[in-house]
This record gives sequence, C-alpha cells and structure tokens, in this order.
Amino acid sequence: MTQQTAKQKILAIGAHAADMELTAGMVMAKYIRAGGAGAFLHLTPGERGHPTKSASEYREQKREEAARAAAALGARMQMFEYRDGELPYNDEVAFRVADVIRAEKPDIVITHWKNSMHKDHVRTHQIVLDAVFYAALRTIERPLPRHAVRGMYFTDNWEDQEGYVPDVFVEIEPSDFDAWRQCCSAYQLFRGGVSSFRYRDYYEALSTTRGCVAFMPRANAFKLWPEQGVRGGAWLPLPRA
Ligand SMILES: [Zn+2]
Repeated sequence: MTQQTAKQKILAIGAHAADMELTAGMVMAKYIRAGGAGAFLHLTPGERGHPTKSASEYREQKREEAARAAAALGARMQMFEYRDGELPYNDEVAFRVADVIRAEKPDIVITHWKNSMHKDHVRTHQIVLDAVFYAALRTIERPLPRHAVRGMYFTDNWEDQEGYVPDVFVEIEPSDFDAWRQCCSAYQLFRGGVSSFRYRDYYEALSTTRGCVAFMPRANAFKLWPEQGVRGGAWLPLPRA
C-alpha cells in the first residue's frame, strides 16, 4: 500500500537550473518544512537564454542563482556541466545520475514529462528513467550500493504540456508558497529581464488554477509515473476527503 508521509526525501532532477524550482519548489518547501528533505540536480546550468550576456557569463550567474534558490528552501543542490541545448542522452550521463540517486537516497524523484518543446527536457526524462532503473539494480556495480526510489512524478512545466494530464494535486500552504517565491526570486529569469515568457505570472496563476480543480486554495500538480500507478489498499481510494 502506498505510504503517504511528509518525512520523505525528494530529489528533483531538471534539464536546466530553475526548471525544478519553478515546478516542484512549492511541494519541496512543504516536505522540508514538515521534516522531510530535498535536493536538486540540474543537468545543465541553462546558460544560453540570456538576451545580452554570453553563455559563460550567464553560466556563472545561473550557478550562483541555483545555490541561493536551493539555500532559500534548505535543499541541497548540485549541477552537472553539460551544455544547454547539447545535453547528451547516453549511459554515461544515466550512470552519473544513478550515482547521485544512490548518494542522495531519495524516496521520491521528480523530473520532466516525456514530451517537451525543449530537447534537453525530453532527454532528461529519458536519462532519469534509466538512472532510476540503474540505481535500483544490485547487479550494476557502482561506488555506492543500490537504492530503490519509491515514487516518481513528472512536473507541470509550461514547456512540457503536450499530452500532459496531471493526476496528483498537492495542496500548497501560504508559507510554502512564500518560500517558493523567495526561492525562485533568486533567478533573474523569475524576476524578469531574461525571457519574454512571464514565468512568475504563469506559475503563480497555475498554482491557483490547479488549486481550483482540486478544491484547494493552491496546488502543485504532478503526473505519476505510469508503471507505478498501482495504488493498493483495503478499499477504493477517494480522490477528495
Ligand atoms: Zn528547461
């Protein structure tokens, strides 16, 4: 039977620094506040989107912003050095991610949905599925012992909407919403002046919209990994209390 408890560890793995803070930061804040733990792994800095800065200048900025964003939530953070737009999909990357999973030992992994307008997001989805599999296999010998993730969820990202129908809505308390805003404000991308896309408006409004359909003031929506969609129990589960 699925055990739902706050004192669990979440590892959120995104293609670019800011992807996971924007889409999973509210629920990460909630778990950490309740005694759980959180960590971010960014596979690239996401350094190629700035209108005036060079990729190397913006890379340094994103690195510093990602550190401050994670610190605002009390989460751990690490970043790989693959280049924005050129994230490779191969076993070398998947084994590196599997090593992070074995080191962080999360109960829950959160990452991108399989469809996206951004190729790095699609590859991250594939890499993370492979990595979760490799991390769990006892017979795959790596420096650390195996670790089996208990739940995997895909985020509600504006770039990953093709075929995305969320099925899990987590209520977000005002204090967790405030913590998320503080976390994301570390990024210039969120504050404005980097992209013409209105990140702040979109994700604030989305939390209200997802909250509306779930009969909650605010919610972070996710899609459950299909293969783990078995929810057992003594009785049929009721979606609403
Ligand atoms: Zn991205």
